Amino acid sequence: MSAAIAKEYDVIIVGCGIAGSVAGAILSNKAGKKVLILEASSQIGGRATSFRGEGITEAAAFRKALMTSARSWVSDRSEPDLPTMIEKKLLYGYTLEAGGRGSWYTNRGRVSQALALFNKASIFYPNVGFVWYDHDWNPSVLGRQSLDGRKSKYAWMSDEDYAEMAKVHMRKLKVGTIEEAEKLDHVTLKDWVEGITESELAREFHYAMGTFQTIVNDPALNSAGENIKVFLQVQETGVHILNGSWAFAGSPGHRFITEGFATAVKDAGGDVVTNAKVKEVMIQDGEASGVVAEIDGKTVEVKASTVVCTLPPKEMLKLIPENLLPAEFVRLAKNVIHTSMVAGQFGLKKPLNELCGLDGVDPRSFYHTSMLIPENEGLFRGNVPLDIGNMSTIAPSTAPEGKHLALMASSILGDEAHDKEKVNIVIDRILKFSDHAFPGWRDELEWMLFTVGDTCILWRHPEDEWVDVKCPTVEGLYFAGDTYGKRVNEGGVEGAAHSGFICAGEITGKDYLQLLPPIFR
Ligand SMILES: Cc1cc2nc3c(=O)[nH]c(=O)nc-3n(C[C@H](O)[C@H](O)[C@H](O)COP(=O)(O)OP(=O)(O)OC[C@H]3O[C@@H](n4cnc5c(N)ncnc54)[C@H](O)[C@@H]3O)c2cc1C
Repeated sequence: MSAAIAKEYDVIIVGCGIAGSVAGAILSNKAGKKVLILEASSQIGGRATSFRGEGITEAAAFRKALMTSARSWVSDRSEPDLPTMIEKKLLYGYTLEAGGRGSWYTNRGRVSQALALFNKASIFYPNVGFVWYDHDWNPSVLGRQSLDGRKSKYAWMSDEDYAEMAKVHMRKLKVGTIEEAEKLDHVTLKDWVEGITESELAREFHYAMGTFQTIVNDPALNSAGENIKVFLQVQETGVHILNGSWAFAGSPGHRFITEGFATAVKDAGGDVVTNAKVKEVMIQDGEASGVVAEIDGKTVEVKASTVVCTLPPKEMLKLIPENLLPAEFVRLAKNVIHTSMVAGQFGLKKPLNELCGLDGVDPRSFYHTSMLIPENEGLFRGNVPLDIGNMSTIAPSTAPEGKHLALMASSILGDEAHDKEKVNIVIDRILKFSDHAFPGWRDELEWMLFTVGDTCILWRHPEDEWVDVKCPTVEGLYFAGDTYGKRVNEGGVEGAAHSGFICAGEITGKDYLQLLPPIFR
């Protein structure tokens, strides 16, 4: 899409992921700015992009979009191989994410609240039910009524361990506010939980909850403050592990978020251009003056006194010379923790609840083990978990009539994702778990697509601050994204949206966070 773009704008935004599109929607609609968003990929959405199966018509183009948008690639463990899937039209009618993907808070999060500000709809569907597989992969259906009518405790814990687990839970509640949680920003989850309980199972549970929120497996790399902020927001919105702990987007997948905000930019007279790779941010005498971009093979210069860069920090440093940025800013940007997702999307003839061998499991259930590969096997940093959702029973428009889409996702660290042997170990274990938990699933399988990425959710290191949204050394240069903003209080999709609000506010001097419910400010 190469729109006829103007020579000059008030604001140029580099990248049309969630942060760029949110910042653009606010600046154009609420501040009357003339906005241009330039997106390198052939489609918008960034790391939260998604694909309609029938839109995948060429393997090379799909691989390129996956890499440019989401820094992800297709594993050769996919079956059949990608060209065969395309040739046989196996993916037709499915909605595919750029890896494993779910969102917090269903339609009650800041993403949905923000879309509503621009009269755009939200299409998240929550999980209902949760099956937890313990160390030995024995399942417990959480929340199931016991015979005497009381909720059963977590079956893999003794009463003592359960009480210790609840004790940590109560301490989180006692923290109470985002401001209080911020005081624990530089305490690791490991240290914080270890200071409260000696029960191994209680600790493991809270480490697992931490990983569930951040996808950082090692509790020594997770910040207690960040985890408690998410916990408090979950609490406030009324979703919980059994209902809405993860929500999935209906068709066309999570890309709908960015499409909503990008449409709002266009509604307000702004331009959004794909296949437009920014090569340089022009900086003269300490002031941003525009960008040089390659649009449909042509090099063009576009002027603006405000430029917002939404690339992940390591990519951002390739675009903006380090010597123009403060040393501490560069150090923080380089120290950001990159998480990875090894994700399998499976086309099945039956939903997982019909395969799991457990009576009365809600078809919209979420399945989880924190122990796909325990850390004590010495292979990975932290326990490698496995999260599973039957997307098509939760969000029915993600699979064609009569077919099912299951998602399996394991988090590892970004550098581990580049070790093919390690990735194959994760895939082998996912298949082994599936054999155990969903006997007969291979007879129902029509295709499986494995993807891996090295830049999923980005987190500040627990000892660091977040990178700020305003460049301290270049006037008119700003940043937005899931790692930018001193007061970003969440990661991932929600964090990127939060950062978009903070960035737009910094540019105009207005506090747009007031437009969101208090817990999300
Ligand atoms: C596989 C995967 C699974 C994930 N799962 C979850 C999840 O379950 N829950 C959750 O909350 N979060 C998840 N995340 C993280 C979430 O998607 C990101 O945190 C969020 O989308 C980041 O948005 P952003 O706007 O900050 O950055 P990005 O989406 O990275 O946006 C940057 C944009 O800049 C573009 N770009 C790059 N270079 C240039 C250039 N030179 N010129 C122009 N444009 C350029 C990119 O194509 C991209 O569109 C996942 C991410 C991945 C990759």
